[in-house]
Amino acid sequence: MISTKKFFSDADLPTFTDWQSELAAAVSDVDELYRLLELPAPRDVYAPKQFALRVPHAFIAKMKKGDANDPLLLQVLPSHAERLATDGYSTDPLAENHHNPIKGLLHKYRSRVLLTITGACAVHCRYCFRQHFDYAANQPSSREIDAVIDYINACDDVDEVLLSGGDPLNVNNKRLALWLEKLATIPHVRTVRLHTRLPVVLPNRIDDELLGLFASFPKKLVMVLHINHTNEIDDNLIAKCQALRASGLTLLNQTVLLKGINDDAKTLCALSHALFDAGILPYYLHILDKVAGAAHFDLPIEQAVAIYWQLLENLSGYLVPKLAQELPNQPYKTPVDIHAYRPNPHTAEKI
Ligand code: SF4
Repeated sequence: MISTKKFFSDADLPTFTDWQSELAAAVSDVDELYRLLELPAPRDVYAPKQFALRVPHAFIAKMKKGDANDPLLLQVLPSHAERLATDGYSTDPLAENHHNPIKGLLHKYRSRVLLTITGACAVHCRYCFRQHFDYAANQPSSREIDAVIDYINACDDVDEVLLSGGDPLNVNNKRLALWLEKLATIPHVRTVRLHTRLPVVLPNRIDDELLGLFASFPKKLVMVLHINHTNEIDDNLIAKCQALRASGLTLLNQTVLLKGINDDAKTLCALSHALFDAGILPYYLHILDKVAGAAHFDLPIEQAVAIYWQLLENLSGYLVPKLAQELPNQPYKTPVDIHAYRPNPHTAEKI
């Protein structure tokens, strides 16, 4: 079993009566973030108005005080590097605008559709590929939900619906219940999949009411968490994962390969083990989507694949996530051709 690190004592943290007040109190001021982490105030802060700093206290509590290079801090701290225009990086790297037949629904792959039920997230991950997405035009109002359901009803090929955003757990239980209730009526939908980072950045979001809602849902439920580093997994998250599994959910994880955060095999092997210990299966290791503002997180493909070969050598198969890349206008997520970049086994670095 993993022993999770704890960098903050409970006394360091504000207390909240419910997850919504905790969400509302997310830190959006860089100086405050530095103060909480006991770091010297930065001299040259980048504070964008769009996609500004946003990080809940529960995620800050997993960062190491006094460490300006903490791997969790670097995921959320705005950087001047975001302002650099880089060839090949765009505001719509996956051409999602071309697959948006109806407000709030993306239909990129034949058997599944993705619903953007909210544009809001509890945390702003600086590498997010949807950071420029037009959420204002893509959040169905209560009256527009039926048009989305009608669209799915008319697509017999669709057997899975992804709830995404934004973060689908950012909406309240009543709103989520409304979506689930309507999706439950579609005969050919077998599975509903939620893509969320809330259990990681704000574990109290997994409250009893939500667990009850999941437990009573009549179709299969899959939750894909988004965890990039072992330090994101603490006892609180592990307890919430146990409760989610007890409510019938299958838990998977996707990780984005990020320069300076998890770009070595030792870190990723530790992550796979920690995920499995928490009852979560490693699912995808994503090559960064080439979104404008995130080029400084990207790695050359050769380096990504060299790391992946080390994972294959050091992990049991069920602990190795699929190395994948999302390319615009492809009918599925593209597996990376790792044999095209096989490093020399005699010179490959050992971990
Ligand atoms: S939680 Fe997900 S959707 Fe929200 S900013 Fe992070 S990566 Fe993007």
